[in-house]
Amino acid sequence: MSIYWNHRVKTLSPYIPGEQPRDGVFIKLNTNENPYPPSPKVIEAIQKAAGDDLRLYPDPACTELRTAIAQRYGVTREQVFAGNGSDEVLAFAFAAFFESPAGKALPILFPDITYSFYPVYAQFWDIPFTLVPLAEDFSINIEDYKQASGGVVIPNPNAPTGQALPRSDLASLLRFYEQDQKGPSSRVVLVDEAYAAFGKGLEMAPLIHEHPNLLTVHTLSKAASLAGLRAGFAIGNQELIQGLCRVRDSFNSYTLDRLAQAGATAAILDASYYEGVNQKVIATRNRVSAALLALGYEVIPSQANFIYIRSRQSRGIEFFTFLREQGILVRHFNKPRIADFLRVSIGTDEQMDRFLEVCQGYRVTRA
Ligand code: PMP
Repeated sequence: MSIYWNHRVKTLSPYIPGEQPRDGVFIKLNTNENPYPPSPKVIEAIQKAAGDDLRLYPDPACTELRTAIAQRYGVTREQVFAGNGSDEVLAFAFAAFFESPAGKALPILFPDITYSFYPVYAQFWDIPFTLVPLAEDFSINIEDYKQASGGVVIPNPNAPTGQALPRSDLASLLRFYEQDQKGPSSRVVLVDEAYAAFGKGLEMAPLIHEHPNLLTVHTLSKAASLAGLRAGFAIGNQELIQGLCRVRDSFNSYTLDRLAQAGATAAILDASYYEGVNQKVIATRNRVSAALLALGYEVIPSQANFIYIRSRQSRGIEFFTFLREQGILVRHFNKPRIADFLRVSIGTDEQMDRFLEVCQGYRVTRA
């Protein structure tokens, strides 16, 4: 605590990102990065952009990037917002669409086990929220969200569980918030699709044409192997996008620099490269899941680029520590209901073979 902090800063509980070790001795399976490199076209585009033009401000509207995204998703450029990673896009969306203050506004809803940045944003903007418990098997029951609320945030697939909802469930929620909710106005349903590219038929963007209250949020950090570049975007009807622009332009008009815009645009345009890379990640995920089940571990069915697993013989922290000692870094959240689970990002086949070998050894030591 500092006497110089204002009340807001004193009462924040900031998000804690996964560890980024600086010495490369670990097999790093803790922050859901893609194990494969970005498209060579991305590197080329960034190199080309790294020239004299850096003395000029970047395009605040990210026109080329938004045009590429619009083409890819079958929407118009006015239905796309680009930001500095999806974390920024999410922070702006909380600011733009959900009411405060706590105690007065209707709470927004999100799952009790989900991306731990959501409560941080809500707290930052003083937005009341209600945590909706996942079922025993960690699934989301969409009916639980059909109640008077200030809006809904659902990641699909969910994190850190990796479980996904069918699009039809989310569509029924959108209809509820458009038509049936008693309240002054329709509320926004935000679907965070950080991991949707690793699932089957999950992407909701085509539904924005029918559902003006739908905002989908996307990142290039996972499916486009660009966590180090910081680029994310949202797709939704034009009014929602304008709302995001109003928030951005009240903070910083140039959230994506020239290099990021060039690299992100090249990534969006090279969908076929990433299709190949991500199919490999999916195949590895399915193989590793089956192997862990055969070894007696509990594995939540995943449609993401990570798996959520539990050793039946030990506490989560013990399993985490053992893996770390063996040079494998995974993510452990010491929270109610999930303290015995570990989230393991999918690495290359070679990395995952080593991981499986260590898991096999662990099972033997604990048997
Ligand atoms: N949403 C979810 C569900 C995530 O897990 C992450 C990654 N931590 C993000 C959004 C943010 O991704 P980025 O800011 O790298 O785009």
